Amino acid sequence: MKIICIGRNYIDHAKELNNPVPENPVFFLKPDTALVRKNRPFYYPDFSEDIHYECELVVKINKLGKNIHKKFAHTYYNEIGIGIDFTARDLQSKAKAKGLPWEIAKAFDASAPLSMEFIKKDEFHDLNNISFHLDKNGETVQEGNSGDMIFDFDEIISYLSIFFTLKTGDLIFTGTPAGVGPVKVGDELEGYVGDRLMLKCDVK
Ligand code: MG
Repeated sequence: MKIICIGRNYIDHAKELNNPVPENPVFFLKPDTALVRKNRPFYYPDFSEDIHYECELVVKINKLGKNIHKKFAHTYYNEIGIGIDFTARDLQSKAKAKGLPWEIAKAFDASAPLSMEFIKKDEFHDLNNISFHLDKNGETVQEGNSGDMIFDFDEIISYLSIFFTLKTGDLIFTGTPAGVGPVKVGDELEGYVGDRLMLKCDVK
């Protein structure tokens, strides 16, 4: 199982980090050891002093595919969940400045809390109008809508499948909207799809 994450998929987030809006999806991977399941806590790691939350819709792949045409991409997933792409912003900024890979800042243990529950695709009226938000200590800090993604689910799947064989159970984090920010020990994060509480993550 692999976790593929899309970067800069919302214009307002690309702008807040002073990144150009990409022509093709920007992506990176996390290993399976990044997952945090069952609403377990996130333990703030010693190697960073600036861990940021990035709340994202997550697509779960349900069959094997390679070179998937965009018009068939919708048949490769059935369920949508929500996750947090924890990012060591201090390490990422250093890596970016030197043109180095991002894994040190993105792929570390526990960097990908994932909702226990996934919502079946047909429960949504419109996949291009899925609202989601992240609360920190009871206050909403990020609000997004799938309709604001630069590349939609089908375009992402089609593009990624040029490079990777997608397999059942693979997870795609589809990018974060604006409002990313730091966490500290004691923070309580909650991820919602619509009004539905899907993910809880306490920072310890
Ligand atoms: Mg992200």
